[in-house]
Amino acid sequence: CGITGYIGPREAYPIVINGLKRLEYRGYDSAGVMMFDGEKMHLSKTKGKVSDLEKITETEPFRKKGSIGIGHTRWATHGVPNDINSHPHFSASGDLVIVHNGIIENYDTLKKELISRGYTFKSDTDTEVLVNLIEEVKKKEGCKLGKAVQLALTQVIGAYAIAVFDKTKTNEIVVARLGSPIAIGVGKDNGEFFVASDASPFIEFTKDAIYLEDEEMAIIKLHKGIKVRKIKDDSLVDANIQELQL
Ligand code: GLU
Repeated sequence: CGITGYIGPREAYPIVINGLKRLEYRGYDSAGVMMFDGEKMHLSKTKGKVSDLEKITETEPFRKKGSIGIGHTRWATHGVPNDINSHPHFSASGDLVIVHNGIIENYDTLKKELISRGYTFKSDTDTEVLVNLIEEVKKKEGCKLGKAVQLALTQVIGAYAIAVFDKTKTNEIVVARLGSPIAIGVGKDNGEFFVASDASPFIEFTKDAIYLEDEEMAIIKLHKGIKVRKIKDDSLVDANIQELQL
C-alpha cells in the first residue's frame, strides 16, 4: 500500500501515477487518484492495478490539466477490495478528500456518532469515517483544515499515514503519520512539494526531504513552507530537511 501527492506548477497526474508505480512493491489490491484542476476535484479509482487505473483515466482531461493531486494504493483492511472502497474518499460535503494507509481501530464508535449527526457513508472503509470526522471537527470548531486534522486524530485509535486536501483552501496539503511512513519532498524555494510513502516517487525532482516521525503532522503550504507539529501536545517540531543520497 502507498500514498503519493503533488502540489506545485507541474502537471500532477504523471507524478502521482508514476509514484504509485514505484510503490507497487509494497503490495496492494486497488488504486486511485484525485486530481484538482483549479476548480473541481476529479476522482478515479478501481480495484486492480495501477495499470488498470491508467486505462480508466485514458480520456480524462485531468491527465493534462491540474497541478494538485493525491494517489493511493490500497491494501484492504475494512471493506472488501472493490471500486467504491478504493481511495481517495471524499467527505460528505465533498470539500475534503483523503488517502490513508493503516487502520482506524475505533472506526465503529466514531461512525455511529457521525451517523447520529446525520452523516451518511458510501463505502465500508474506516478511512471514510476519518475524513468525515475531520469535516465534523472543522465545522464544529470553526477551525482550519490543519487544526481539524489534528483534533480529529487525537480521537483516533489505530495507525495511519494520511494526506488530506481541502478544495476550499487550495494552496495546502495536510499529512500525518502514526505507524505508517510519510516522506515530503521539498522543491526549490518551497515552490513545489511531493508527498509519498518513501522518497522513490520524487527522487528525480528533489533531493531535499523531510521524514515525519510517529505522531507528527505537517501542514504543507505552497510558497510558504512546512510546519511540523506533534499531534498530541501541539508543539512545533524543527522540520529537519535531509539530503537524499542516490
Ligand atoms: N484501512 C484502510 C482501508 O481498508 C486503508 C488500508 C490501506 O492501508 O491501504 O481502506
